[in-house]
Amino acid sequence: MRMIKPMADLYEQLRRLPGIGSKTAMRLAYHIIDRPESEVRQLAGALLAAKQQIKLCSVCYNLSDSEICEICGRRDRDSSIICVVEQPQDLMAMERSHGYKGVYHVLHGVLSPLDGIGPDNIRIKELLLRLQQTQVKEIIIATNSDIEGEATAVYLAQLLKPLGVTVSRIAHGLPVGGDLEYADEMTLARALENRRNM
Ligand SMILES: [Zn+2]
Repeated sequence: MRMIKPMADLYEQLRRLPGIGSKTAMRLAYHIIDRPESEVRQLAGALLAAKQQIKLCSVCYNLSDSEICEICGRRDRDSSIICVVEQPQDLMAMERSHGYKGVYHVLHGVLSPLDGIGPDNIRIKELLLRLQQTQVKEIIIATNSDIEGEATAVYLAQLLKPLGVTVSRIAHGLPVGGDLEYADEMTLARALENRRNM
């Protein structure tokens, strides 16, 4: 017997989500149709509201519900130090370490020639523009320690150093290939403290 269409559609949408295999998608689909309509409305509403209301900060490209994100808007942050991260979730991880008082720049990706992702596909131009517009003393590159993360760090260092700014790389006490996102606070604080010049 084939799945009835509304069920098949729901299953198909869930299965597209990252980390959701066919079994989990099926379990979630049955769970959703089992819930009261009010609860399903809340879920659907939250999905749509998140998509419609969340935009990117016009300064650092962090997720934000206003033109400028909370971090860029704060007076106690030092805008002359910029920490470059791959994704908004990496920024969140750095913030959890409580040791960092500078600001951020979110690339929204890393260089990955095999996947066709070059410098124009991530927010590198925006970073260069920022350097022209604000006084920046140091750029701390906090991309992950996997191949793409390292290659992106080297590329950025070559691009930025001639501009007269100090470029440093966080010390990856993180396991090789370890994601910033999953590092604990102590490890991150130490990685930041032990950053080295590139
Ligand atoms: Zn911002």
